Amino acid sequence: HNAKEQGIELNRYAHAMQMKAQERLQLENDLRKALDRGQFYLVYQPQINLASGMIVGMEALVRWQHPQRGPISPAEFIPLAEESGLIVPLGEWVLREACAQNKLWQEAGYRKLCVSVNLSMRQFRHSHLLDNISGILRETGLEPVWLELEITESMTFDKDRAFEQLRKIKEIGVHISIDDFGTGYSSLHYLKDLPIDRLKIDRSFVNEVMEDSNNAAIVSTITSMAHHLQLKVTAEGVENEAQLLFLRDQHCHEAQGYFFSKPIVAADFEKRFLRDVDKPTG
Ligand code: C2E
Ligand code: MG
Ligand code: MG
Ligand code: MG
Repeated sequence: HNAKEQGIELNRYAHAMQMKAQERLQLENDLRKALDRGQFYLVYQPQINLASGMIVGMEALVRWQHPQRGPISPAEFIPLAEESGLIVPLGEWVLREACAQNKLWQEAGYRKLCVSVNLSMRQFRHSHLLDNISGILRETGLEPVWLELEITESMTFDKDRAFEQLRKIKEIGVHISIDDFGTGYSSLHYLKDLPIDRLKIDRSFVNEVMEDSNNAAIVSTITSMAHHLQLKVTAEGVENEAQLLFLRDQHCHEAQGYFFSKPIVAADFEKRFLRDVDKPTG
């Protein structure tokens, strides 16, 4: 490269960076308005008990229907919402919506199921979290045992603080699970003391459990550890029957994944999974 070419390259780079920053700013602005404009909605993915084949719960996952760009993945907008602090009102909306929907289904007479809701770091750290949860349970009338909150390993890094927060949540009767288990860096030392109910094995291990014996070893070790610690264990990302049979062999309690269903909107979930709630799935 001569100096001139280099200059052009740099310019291009600066321009691309600026575009990125602008796009980001725009998206953040859009995100700020999205809640008031009703652009968020929830989808639900069934959770299946492997021994009985029955549905026992569902995970609520947020979606953003952007007016111009169409659906945007939570992997893209949750980090943005987290940085801007918007995750707190958004997370509260998700929690209220999920609890209200579950209560509606219970009142419609379907067998009672547990709804899992993901918490973000900022939400988990928020001093009003417990008040928010209690308030939403009171408002919606959902009994606490039908709610499970998912946190990730990294949120337990500040052990004393996490312990305190989890203890308060457990005290009101809400369940807690560790999501994406195995991908974080929490030590077993943490795990043994944390007041949690469930481990959710990350889907990266489950996805290739039949192709890679190391993944199989990890899945079976986590499952067995969960049993010994008297925790429930859920496998995420089950996509085929071979994986399902492997997990059942390991006495993994529950599973979630495309093999049963992708996350779907409430009306479809009701049609597909609740009307025949007592029929085994998969
Ligand atoms: P997650 O909590 O681990 O949720 C599971 C993700 O795996 C979901 O992606 C789900 O659609 C996907 N999945 C489920 N089964 C399969 C499968 O068999 N194969 C494959 N390839 N994928 C599967 P989604 O909905 O895009 O969400 C991504 C992440 O965004 C979630 O991971 C969660 O960390 C976060 N998220 C979603 N909704 C919320 C929310 O309301 N609040 C917060 N704080 N985070 C959320
Ligand atoms: Mg989750
Ligand atoms: Mg997650
Ligand atoms: Mg996960």
